[in-house]
Amino acid sequence: MADRGFDLEGRLDTLKDHDLKRALSPVDRVAERGYFAEPSGGELPVLESAEALVFASNNYLGLTDDQRIQDAARQAAATVGTGAGASRLVTGDTMVHRDLERLLAEVKGTERALTFSSGYAANVGTITALEPDVVFSDELNHASIVDGCRLADADTVVYDHCDAASLRSALEERADAAARAGRDPTDESWLIVTDSVFSMDGTVAPLEEICDAAEAVGAWVMVDEAHATGLYADGGGVVQAEGLEDRIQIQMGTLSKALASQGGYVAGSADLIECMVNDARSFVFSTGLAPPAAAAASEALHVARHGDARERLWENVAHLRDGLETMGFDVWGDSQILPLVVGDREDAMALADGIRERDVVAPAIRPPTVPEGTSRLRVAPIATHDENDIIDCLEAFRAAGEEVGLL
Ligand code: PMP
Repeated sequence: MADRGFDLEGRLDTLKDHDLKRALSPVDRVAERGYFAEPSGGELPVLESAEALVFASNNYLGLTDDQRIQDAARQAAATVGTGAGASRLVTGDTMVHRDLERLLAEVKGTERALTFSSGYAANVGTITALEPDVVFSDELNHASIVDGCRLADADTVVYDHCDAASLRSALEERADAAARAGRDPTDESWLIVTDSVFSMDGTVAPLEEICDAAEAVGAWVMVDEAHATGLYADGGGVVQAEGLEDRIQIQMGTLSKALASQGGYVAGSADLIECMVNDARSFVFSTGLAPPAAAAASEALHVARHGDARERLWENVAHLRDGLETMGFDVWGDSQILPLVVGDREDAMALADGIRERDVVAPAIRPPTVPEGTSRLRVAPIATHDENDIIDCLEAFRAAGEEVGLL
């Protein structure tokens, strides 16, 4: 009989052959984090937490185990329920969602905001709903932006990473090509999309120059603040730090990093949000954010705005960067993410193993995630690391770096 199924084994073998196969960690490694070992019908002991210091999380403000945020989630679960039960347009809408969206709009300086079940869904839903003719996209933009462009069937023009001159020439080339083909480029809708903080390089997009370039040709700008929301001015992102709210039409972000929760958001004009409510399929046809997640994000946003976690994070970042650079490591970026670039993939693996043996966790990031020759450890301090944690981390890097022959 003909086999019209799928050769999964072959596919996995190919990944293995090319050293590209990813896997979840072994379960005992996961259990070290101290969760219940299995879903609990009754009382199960919490496993001992491992002693390892994690410098690998996007929980930048250290709020995932903050009592206030856990209480907010518990209270929402107890009063509104553990799940929204349906799409927001059906019966899934609650005051927990509305409060969060009001707060997000306030922080982002926009008329309105709308939550999605993830940042991934927010990007894909927003870009497809806009139906842009052309998207100009930074070469290192997140996969959810890339997928949004694909699904929107837009012509996607990729410009060099964080390079406003490359963006300007891409815009000019597109206008020239349209003119040569006898088309009026102003008949096309143009969207420029960029992350504000880039996850693997720690770079920050030159937003002001991007706005200048956009305004010169009448394009719209969309900024993904996934790795910035909560960390900058008044709990906002880079857009707030640079005062660009009025020049950027679409701000999006995730609730799953500094805001210690789960979900995504889009912020912009009232018309933008109304269009998303109607046309963003990942909003319309997906269950509303779980109320505990929405309540946790609201509380985290409040803490990010009014507490001292941001200050502590940036102090830790400065201390760690300074220590690593003084030792002689090559640390890239310009944000809270510190990519320690080693170059060779085996050296990066050896360094990651070396610090792990010394109870410090920071993962090696290798090709194809990053270009060949730029294998690195992505080191991310968080606000709740104390001075001794930073010193221990630096000590682990010094010892492992010497062992691997990098220092
Ligand atoms: N944008 C960027 C830049 C991200 O890094 C991520 C998450 N890795 C997302 C969007 C997707 O967000 P979420 O994890 O909430 O789906």
